[in-house]
Amino acid sequence: MSVLCIPVDRCFAGESILLDEQIDPSFLELTEKDELVPASPVHVCGTVYCTDEWIIANARVTASFRLPCSACNEIFTLQIEVPAFSHQEAVEGLKRGFWDVGPSLREAILVEVPFFVRCGGSACAHMDDIQKYFRDPEKEIDGHQPFRDL
Ligand SMILES: [Zn+2]
Repeated sequence: MSVLCIPVDRCFAGESILLDEQIDPSFLELTEKDELVPASPVHVCGTVYCTDEWIIANARVTASFRLPCSACNEIFTLQIEVPAFSHQEAVEGLKRGFWDVGPSLREAILVEVPFFVRCGGSACAHMDDIQKYFRDPEKEIDGHQPFRDL
């Protein structure tokens, strides 16, 4: 059983369940090679309810991670928000017990992590320091450049 297992019996009785959970981030199953280290519990805030055929979870999800900036490689904290996480499952086959939304939640969170991350939000906060390592076309030497002029 994973972390976010919702006791559904109350739902089937017609109740909405309010979620306000701080979940241990180990269910994200991150490994060292993901370069993504959970920096806080995953906060799930929302509701779970039933219709005749579906059980539905709607929630706002926030999490934070420590990871290296794609530009300067400095480790920083990235806040992730899934403002409208939604997951549903057919009531059939889920008559009793617990509903595990962990795997779906994991996917919703990880898909929000950008491929290129910048330590200062939209830009790298250390851009001035690393700018000198970038190619500057104005300072390039004229003439033969063996790897360019093939
Ligand atoms: Zn940076």
